[in-house]
Amino acid sequence: MGKEVIVEVKHMDKRFGSTIALNDVSIEVRRGEIQGLIGENGSGKSTVTSIISGMQKADSGQMLYKGGKWEPLSMLWALEKGIGMIVQESGTVPGISVAENIFLGETDRFKTFGNDDKKWGMVKRKEMMKEAQKALDSIGASHIKAEQMTAMLDMQDRKLVEIAKIMIKNPEVLVVDETTTTLSQIGRDIIYKIMNRMKEENKAVIFISHDLDEIMNVCDSLTVLRDGKIIVTFSNEEFDEELIKTSMIGREMQGDYYRGDYDGSYDDEVVLEVKDASLGNQLKNFNLKIHRGEILGVGGLSHCGMHTLGKVLFGACKLETGRVLIKGRELKDEADAMKEQIGYVAKDRDVESLCLNASIRDNIAVGGLDRFALHKFLILPREEKKYVQKQINDLSVKCAEMDQYVSALSGGNKQKVVFGKWIGRGSEILILDCPTRGVDIGVKQAMYQLMYRMKKEGKSIIIISEEMAELIGMADCLIIMKDGEIKKELPRSETLSESDIIRYMI
Ligand code: ADP
Ligand code: MG
Repeated sequence: MGKEVIVEVKHMDKRFGSTIALNDVSIEVRRGEIQGLIGENGSGKSTVTSIISGMQKADSGQMLYKGGKWEPLSMLWALEKGIGMIVQESGTVPGISVAENIFLGETDRFKTFGNDDKKWGMVKRKEMMKEAQKALDSIGASHIKAEQMTAMLDMQDRKLVEIAKIMIKNPEVLVVDETTTTLSQIGRDIIYKIMNRMKEENKAVIFISHDLDEIMNVCDSLTVLRDGKIIVTFSNEEFDEELIKTSMIGREMQGDYYRGDYDGSYDDEVVLEVKDASLGNQLKNFNLKIHRGEILGVGGLSHCGMHTLGKVLFGACKLETGRVLIKGRELKDEADAMKEQIGYVAKDRDVESLCLNASIRDNIAVGGLDRFALHKFLILPREEKKYVQKQINDLSVKCAEMDQYVSALSGGNKQKVVFGKWIGRGSEILILDCPTRGVDIGVKQAMYQLMYRMKKEGKSIIIISEEMAELIGMADCLIIMKDGEIKKELPRSETLSESDIIRYMI
């Protein structure tokens, strides 16, 4: 390790109330390297990197950047000096154009001033658009146009706008905080290209991801965090999957990760059925039966129609033709689905499944109103509290208290709150769209065990996933979708491999 250190963190501590987010953390980031950070949800990865990039301040400890004291005043300030961060949560403003987002807070640069009044200037729009487009082009995102309204872009393209905004400043250190989980292969390739270019230019990258394969592929060095402490740093030659996992959770994995059996049997009773459903290119004359006690896996590429299928099964999407039947009668809408004890965990859980500006208590409680409210509106606070606390305990949600805002929770814990909302209701049918995306292995294992327990209780689960391993690991029956149709049905089997499945997807 003879390479020059560009960023150094020394003995850093950070608390949030009673939570110790960082405990004596020291890290060195070297030029010409991609430094990985891994650890379970809530281990402190975002906290340490956001302190490095000026978003918040540490309670104690020192930082050095290029050998000098580093005390960033703000993110923009840090970026001007060469340290930029692609944040985990969304960082664009929807109501303005792409170009305005790229130059947010800096539009003065493009102003022409009148003779006597420096305050009122016209923004040289054309020039700003040109510069913004150049920034987009340079990262390989030419498909996004600078004039477009940001609100019209999907999640991935908004993320790319953020990346362009940072890269236009030509940073020497780039932090990538779990960005790749929300991106498709195209977006990922853009990020990998940027990271590799920075490496070649003798700059540095700090890369955070839950995807162990990905991290082992791209990183030169990997630091493991657990409960706010640095556990170990591995160099590329020392990478070993089991060793990394063990150091993340502090013990060897206990018990099965997925379910241990290959008995793919379930009840004959059909609980939910899709009949001759059509919806654009997402579903084409689609038929499907879900049985009592079945875990049905649905796999495919992201545009194959499987995410739409999830919504349709929950009554959240109007079909052009065909019907969804619940216990033989037609399912009307979402309210009807909830009445019939169907639960749905959306893929984009921050937007669709959780109210981030509300407490854990409120989020879990909405699912159970009919359990502890008289006549559906008079809430009995003691009963509500008991109900919510039970869900928090059952799922071991890591939080300070139930009245804490959901927005402050880590990804895995947010996901547990979503689960709590639906499981608390006693859902008979649970539709899970990419439930373990961005969730660490400890939480994942807990979720798999929960799904299996529900199956054993005679409940039905539909798991839609882009992760083939978990479909193989959990499903009684697996369908592979392509272009709105079922390409292949595969029963549970010990010999099923990922390549068997991928064959039918593409
Ligand atoms: P990671 O990125 O590794 O998932 P974080 O750095 O986001 O973890 O969080 C570390 C710990 O600090 C967690 O317990 C988290 O709940 C807590 N935490 C982070 N940010 C805040 C905040 N703004 N308010 C309260 N607690 C926070
Ligand atoms: Mg984080």
